[in-house]
Amino acid sequence: MFYDLVPAELQNDFDALLNDLSYLPEQVKECCPFCHQINFRKIREKPLTFRCKSCQKYFNPLTKTPFNRLVPTIWLGMILTRRIEKATHHTLAYELDCTIDMVKRREHALIDYMQQHYPHFHYWYTQIRVTQNDMLPTMIEEQYTALSKLIKQLLTIEKFPCHHCQSDNTVKIGHRTGFRCRQCRKTFNLLSKTPLNKIPHPEQWQPFIALLVANNTNKTIATSLNLSLSTVSKWRQIWCETMNNWGYAELAVWCNKKQ
Ligand SMILES: [Zn+2]
Ligand SMILES: [Zn+2]
Repeated sequence: MFYDLVPAELQNDFDALLNDLSYLPEQVKECCPFCHQINFRKIREKPLTFRCKSCQKYFNPLTKTPFNRLVPTIWLGMILTRRIEKATHHTLAYELDCTIDMVKRREHALIDYMQQHYPHFHYWYTQIRVTQNDMLPTMIEEQYTALSKLIKQLLTIEKFPCHHCQSDNTVKIGHRTGFRCRQCRKTFNLLSKTPLNKIPHPEQWQPFIALLVANNTNKTIATSLNLSLSTVSKWRQIWCETMNNWGYAELAVWCNKKQ
């Protein structure tokens, strides 16, 4: 999905790295990470824990790796891909509902791991990618964070007064912004009559906006999200219009500067 953000010659490294990360919690060591003897046994399945019969120490698949204690491990792959997409630490802390420091600690561990196992990828990630990104102007960063928050709220509202009879007795239907009124039995959608109603698949909204904010071309976005060029161009227009309507004029201009 994000492949074209990584140079072609590094895609094998990137695949392998993501694969490593996804198997981290299950990886069984060949020997004890403390004394390197092979005589150890599993003592617990969840969380997977071993004990060495030689040095008597306990360990798990993350012990003595850069990712020691950095659970949940699923965050690591997410942080890596979102950082490559140029998401800032600030944005990621918001998305994962954790502190900026937690994001940074995990990225440092990722960088350590790259250095040990994928030196070319490490060079690209630390030298080339970083010099291209990361410096969103403060106002853009703030508006982007506010927009992400608003979208998240919009997609998770559970109650909304009926558009037809104003009754509060409504229930959410489906995964989007549709509701049914128990009073008048009609349905309504929070986004009807707004341009956003023309963009299906809300699960793609945030990745799409992330790519816009990172100033990618329509062509790059189309490849990343497997969309047609005309769809990308239409969605860009709709999002910029929406940003404007919601009071994020600077962000709208920022997202429209490169097509
Ligand atoms: Zn041992
Ligand atoms: Zn109603």
